Amino acid sequence: MSRIRDDLAEIRARVASALDRASRAGEEVVILAVSKQQSADAVEAAWQAGQRHFAENYLQEALAKMDRLANLGIQWHFVGRIQSNKTRPIAERFDWVHTVDRARIAVRLNDQRPASLPPLNVLIQVNQAGETQKAGVAPSGAEALARLIVEQPRLRLAGLMTLPPAAEPPESNAEYFLELRRLRDRLGARGIAMDALSMGMSADFETAIACGSTCVRIGTAIFGARRAGGI
Ligand SMILES: *Cc1c(COP(=O)(O)O)cnc(C)c1O
Repeated sequence: MSRIRDDLAEIRARVASALDRASRAGEEVVILAVSKQQSADAVEAAWQAGQRHFAENYLQEALAKMDRLANLGIQWHFVGRIQSNKTRPIAERFDWVHTVDRARIAVRLNDQRPASLPPLNVLIQVNQAGETQKAGVAPSGAEALARLIVEQPRLRLAGLMTLPPAAEPPESNAEYFLELRRLRDRLGARGIAMDALSMGMSADFETAIACGSTCVRIGTAIFGARRAGGI
């Protein structure tokens, strides 16, 4: 588990120098440790090394880890595909959701967010390349969905998220990242304020930071390979 501490230190250093190179020194990029298919012990080791934001894709697996690590004060982010009959535990247990891509999901999360908690932070997942196997709203549908989210009192629209096609070399995703940033800025100019751009993973987070990312989602570069079949 000491490997996790070293890997985290290296990621932090790489994030800082990517910010520097982009003349963004002093700006903050949230490092999200994507802990899907990693054990609760691995999450705890990262927490011991100072990591506070964790992301999960699979609900049952996430809930089990949350129960075990309830005393740590972790900020939990949901980054998986959302089925509409599974929104309640997401609304009740998570702090952030990056994968809202349709009105029905937004309305259900709003209705199911407990009054005792602050509004749920949500990001709109944008499917930029029109990949049918991936979730996400088409770029042309983002404005309508954003306007609907802004009207929900139990949601806070935080920003946009993308999961572009796997690219080699990773720099070739720059165009998607820049396009997501332009979309955020365009919506901002039309009165829909939001800050976050959730973009960049283990292979391409430095490119994403050069393009304005405010939140990188890093799994394997922190925890190593995922275990097939879950924890
Ligand atoms: C798994 C996953 C990641 C992390 O991927 P790595 O390549 O392991 O860094 C990031 N974002 C989402 C949505 C994921 O599902």
